[in-house]
Amino acid sequence: MPSPDLLSFDEASALVAAYAAQRARFRPSVVRVTLARAAGRVLARPLRADSDQPPFARSTRDGFACRAAEASRRRPLAVAGSTRAGQAPSGPLRPGTAWEIMTGAPVPAGADAVMMLEHVETGSGPAARTVRLLPPRTIEKGENIVARGAQARKGSELLPAGTAIGAAQVALMASCGCAELPVFVRPRVAILATGDELVPIRSRPGPGQIRNSNAPMLAAMVAAAGGEPWVLPVARDTAKALDAALAKAAQADLLLITGGVSAGKFDLVEPALARVGARFHFTGVRIQPGKPTVFGERPRTGEAANQKPRSMQWFFGLPGNPVSSAVTFSLFAAPLLSALAGRLGVGPRFALACLAADVKAKPGLTRFLPAACDFAGRELQVALVPWQGSGDQPAMARANCFVVVPEEANRLCAGAIVRILLL
Ligand code: AMP
Ligand code: MG
Repeated sequence: MPSPDLLSFDEASALVAAYAAQRARFRPSVVRVTLARAAGRVLARPLRADSDQPPFARSTRDGFACRAAEASRRRPLAVAGSTRAGQAPSGPLRPGTAWEIMTGAPVPAGADAVMMLEHVETGSGPAARTVRLLPPRTIEKGENIVARGAQARKGSELLPAGTAIGAAQVALMASCGCAELPVFVRPRVAILATGDELVPIRSRPGPGQIRNSNAPMLAAMVAAAGGEPWVLPVARDTAKALDAALAKAAQADLLLITGGVSAGKFDLVEPALARVGARFHFTGVRIQPGKPTVFGERPRTGEAANQKPRSMQWFFGLPGNPVSSAVTFSLFAAPLLSALAGRLGVGPRFALACLAADVKAKPGLTRFLPAACDFAGRELQVALVPWQGSGDQPAMARANCFVVVPEEANRLCAGAIVRILLL
């Protein structure tokens, strides 16, 4: 049974969330980027509509603009003209007439609905083409028209500062004419891998050695969470090497250390952090993998690129096993990093899915087990990926989520609806 004085997963999450909320009150500095470079950044000022959206009453169908009351009587209406997308609005629509219209075109003044092409028959009258709604259809006012300003009014806030910019936000900014926009400067995140066994990626590991895979993994995770990764050289498991590395890392906005936080003889990270005056917020969490995770802050020297000078630097000590590092980054480091990046809505993302087979629990520990979720089906189905423990990188690379086993559970049964942590 793990020590009850370690924080539970919920307690540790709440603690990180509280620090993240505190940090979120400070705005990072701002730079301007072109729209082409905006995806993945965080909007620094609210985006306002530069005009009504849509800027004119827009037809959502190919068909005939009309007055709904007239069209519903199903008498033939003379087609008085035609407007295609890109043409200026026309009108007013005379009583007893309809107006041919294409998707995206402005609806003529006086029309209050658009009959779909598929719902009418056309004919010829004495002077013009006619159109008639096919029985038994009727049409309501407003059908197939998006009124001017229905999506947004000129000057209204479309996106708040702190919005993470993805494809939909890029499209919205383009529609508002933002060729350039203000974004927050990304926080610089130092990534320090520790361990005598680690060799660089291009090296062939000798007996007992392995490649440093955590640094590039965390660099990818940092970038995805809105930070700028700064990978430091590997620190050996000596007090001297760690002291030097911690001094160098002090310039970063956030420090991630992997390895060296367990209880082993060469796990020297906590003492090294203590030597630089660290305050530890937690030094272990009742989770698996990731139990030895450390979170705290330490005084720092040097000026961070991003933030207003802040006298303390947050750090996380993540256990060296790759799955442990990945899980603990997602659970604890990513929310704090989001706050440093000025992003709204921080926190790991969870979903509910139906479990394929029984899962064993470890009472007293919240477990996070690599799993594959089928997101394509009607109901999310999740199955564990077979794994050999928290060093199993091939298993993690086949997973797209983690099944969460609550600490009070004795087992999870096949068919149960369970929480999954999304990657
Ligand atoms: P530690 O947390 O230092 O006790 O390391 C736990 C396990 O993770 C050991 O098997 C280490 O070899 C492995 N490990 C530590 N750091 C890394 C790294 N940067 N990349 C890949 N594996 C690592
Ligand atoms: Mg180690």
